[in-house]
Amino acid sequence: MPQLTLFADPTSKSLGLSPKKSPTSSRSTHTQSPSSVSKRKAAFTKKGDEPNLWELHHIQEDMAVLGKRPRGASSPDGNDEEMKGQPDRGAKRHEPEGGGVAGSKDIKEHKNAYEIKGKIANREDAARVDADPPLNQLVRLMENGWKEAEKGESVVYWMRMEDMRVEDNTALYRASERAQELGLPLVALYVLSPGDYKIHDRSARKIDFMLRNLKSLKTKFHELNIPLHIVSYPRRLAIPRKLIDEVLPSLGANHIFLNIEYEVDELNRDIATVKLGREKGVDVRCFHDRLVVPPGRIKSQVGKPMSVFSPWQRTWARLLEKEPQLLNMSPLPKANEVTIRQNEKFARLFEDQVPDSLEGFECKDSETMAEVWPEGTERAKELLDLFLHTKARKSQIPLTSPLTPGAESSSKDSRVQAYQTGRNLVDGDNSSRLSPYLVSGVISARMVLNEAKKLGKGGKLESGRDTGLGMWVQEVSWRDFYNHVMATWPRVSMGRPFLEKFADVQWEVNEEHLQAWKDGKTGFPIVDAAMRACNQRGWMENRVRMVSASFLVKSLMLDWRLGEKYFMECFIDGDLAANNGGWQWTASTGTDPQPYFRIFNTLTQSEKCDPNGDYIRYWVPELRNLKGKAIHDPSHHMPSNEFKKLGYPAPIVDHKKSRERALFRYKNVGEKEP
Ligand SMILES: Cc1cc2nc3c(=O)[nH]c(=O)nc-3n(C[C@H](O)[C@H](O)[C@H](O)COP(=O)(O)OP(=O)(O)OC[C@H]3O[C@@H](n4cnc5c(N)ncnc54)[C@H](O)[C@@H]3O)c2cc1C
Repeated sequence: MPQLTLFADPTSKSLGLSPKKSPTSSRSTHTQSPSSVSKRKAAFTKKGDEPNLWELHHIQEDMAVLGKRPRGASSPDGNDEEMKGQPDRGAKRHEPEGGGVAGSKDIKEHKNAYEIKGKIANREDAARVDADPPLNQLVRLMENGWKEAEKGESVVYWMRMEDMRVEDNTALYRASERAQELGLPLVALYVLSPGDYKIHDRSARKIDFMLRNLKSLKTKFHELNIPLHIVSYPRRLAIPRKLIDEVLPSLGANHIFLNIEYEVDELNRDIATVKLGREKGVDVRCFHDRLVVPPGRIKSQVGKPMSVFSPWQRTWARLLEKEPQLLNMSPLPKANEVTIRQNEKFARLFEDQVPDSLEGFECKDSETMAEVWPEGTERAKELLDLFLHTKARKSQIPLTSPLTPGAESSSKDSRVQAYQTGRNLVDGDNSSRLSPYLVSGVISARMVLNEAKKLGKGGKLESGRDTGLGMWVQEVSWRDFYNHVMATWPRVSMGRPFLEKFADVQWEVNEEHLQAWKDGKTGFPIVDAAMRACNQRGWMENRVRMVSASFLVKSLMLDWRLGEKYFMECFIDGDLAANNGGWQWTASTGTDPQPYFRIFNTLTQSEKCDPNGDYIRYWVPELRNLKGKAIHDPSHHMPSNEFKKLGYPAPIVDHKKSRERALFRYKNVGEKEP
């Protein structure tokens, strides 16, 4: 979900929020005195000069993580900088910009509206961030002012939530190289940051997957005599300072290597880390690693960033032909000397434990998740191998291990070769199901494309709509595309529509409808099956993500950001760039949008993606005995007394009427139908 720009100025003690607005920033370094509080109150309530709710919301989120400390009390570690400059919480509530939801007067009665209202940046703040995206700032910083650091006693690789592998890991390899040059041991560092996970709506499943992968990585690192040092900070804003002032000195490290994360908050954290590092003589090196083609590389002929997928994708494919080295994979890191295990400073790090769970992110279905989504790069490679070389299986509709034996080998009808049709079907494991692994970096996009390349004619990377293989490669490039969009127009990750002209579309505020959608009880079987799969599997096929998203936005006319948040909270593969891209595409507000007048017909979609109804029958057991058309639309294909016996809800909206409503609201932005 939307992100916030913090750490803007790590050298200042202020929060660095909205520097051009006086209430938050100009008073930020003062401690709380009664007079300053009342002055600030006055400033906040002054019309037209209020900190926006998006900022307040995030500060409140941070406060919630910190616990409810009484005003004026010191923090346990004496580091009070985050407390200062905080807007008075007793101040008047601020209503953000936006359509019907945001502007609604009875907002408190509607939990669904409240859930997102604080996460929408105002137009001006978003435009300001877009004007000089944090990635550009970080790149400029890396290009200028770099100084050689003193040797120190170790080199650190800072692993992130998105690069959880040892193979083909740019920063890890470069850190290892540096450690070898300097004759120093390499230490892997992982920072657990529950504050970040909470604010960014990370699901318990994703955190559980992260911890499972960390455990398997710890074993891999230890095989190389590399300790995996694990620290945890509930106060996400304190991370750069903690790292530079405490963690690195404790390891005697003046060199730290990391792969760049392209989300606004993460970029700002890294900018802060680089700046603080420079103050303290620490060399912080940042690398592109997540994508095949780094954001910013692909431009139009006149040098502008491209926002439409098809031409962008053709350029992406041409670039890979011209620069095949973009697919080169980094070698494995070198092992440390075994003597590190006796070293006074580093030996204890081998004892660091990966927790089984994190408070607030307890995963209730951890065992099922471990079976359906087994952790580790080796498993991800096996899944890729199955996708590339075996046929799809209907037995993979239920919650089961993807590695269950029995997949039939085929070079002609393998899942990837059949992908042109398979990608739109949900009645088996037609797609790769690699998204959780790609999102967490358990396997890299380069690794999967290199395997795909081996199957291409003449060993070339196919990319295009003519073959299943080419189409799948194209699909993988969507991942690069949405990251490129997020890095170029960070506004999209701040709750803003890419197309501002749709910012004021009027949304419904309807808690019952939202809940019915979440629970899979809308009376539309394909939507309900998809949502129940989402709730139980933590994952959905692309086609039904589109169908259920379209249903929320265009049929229920509920704000797309509510759906975006819910998917993040459920998915094991929740990813800001892809999720936001998918939702904005569906809501017709995105870079490369579905035109607003093209509205999915839920019933037709159902018949196409689940032709025999097997998917619906599994996920919606109330309908398991239905056959023919009734499985897709039971209320209209059964006598009403028979339908009632099913215990399945009647449709909560009329498709035709809701379609007309959506067309009106998009055509007449800001208005509701008379
Ligand atoms: C509303 C909506 C929300 C989405 N949320 C997410 C999300 O949180 N995380 C996520 O990884 N994907 C998301 N997607 C994209 C897509 O649905 C999933 O990546 C895909 O379904 C994962 O299944 P797979 O691994 O079998 O994909 P395959 O079809 O095998 O594709 C291979 C890989 O390509 C990438 N990919 C494919 N399609 C897309 C796409 N449209 N956008 C970005 N990357 C893509 C993924 O990394 C995927 O694993 C969303 C799509 C929509 C419409």
